[in-house]
Amino acid sequence: MDEPLEVQDGQVVSMDYTLTVDGEIVDTSENHEPIQFVQGTGNIIPGLERELYGMTIGDSKEVSVSAADGYGEVSDEAYVEVPRTQFPAHIPLEPGTALQVEDQSGQPLFARIDSVGGETVRLDFNHPLAGKQLHFAVKIAALRDATAEELDHGHVHEEGHEH
Ligand code: ZN
Repeated sequence: MDEPLEVQDGQVVSMDYTLTVDGEIVDTSENHEPIQFVQGTGNIIPGLERELYGMTIGDSKEVSVSAADGYGEVSDEAYVEVPRTQFPAHIPLEPGTALQVEDQSGQPLFARIDSVGGETVRLDFNHPLAGKQLHFAVKIAALRDATAEELDHGHVHEEGHEH
């Protein structure tokens, strides 16, 4: 099979990346394996995915992604007031504390304590990067055609290391 020459839909992209927000590195593949995803399936945030078309192996690029194309805007509806009495004693009721709670169907939800009042605690269910401009530095490490099964599933199947 011919090596694909540039990023197109239906290809497995291996990509090194560093994500910087407000001047601080919040995530990076440095010292790890590159991330892998199937281009065109929404495995990564849309504002980044669409900037990758046409890149070739070894290419690097800086991409700025607005909040709307990243993790969304901060939503007022994602703040919820909860009575203090509903928190187990071992949870520190301090702004910034990360919590995992369950919704009515038992699905885990992640929240942070936004503020603490006399009777209630205000939880913030926004994604931690909601409302943030994202700055990615990316480099294409490898490209290959996705298998039929990967295209069907819409994600990469790890094949182990080939040398
Ligand atoms: Zn699968």
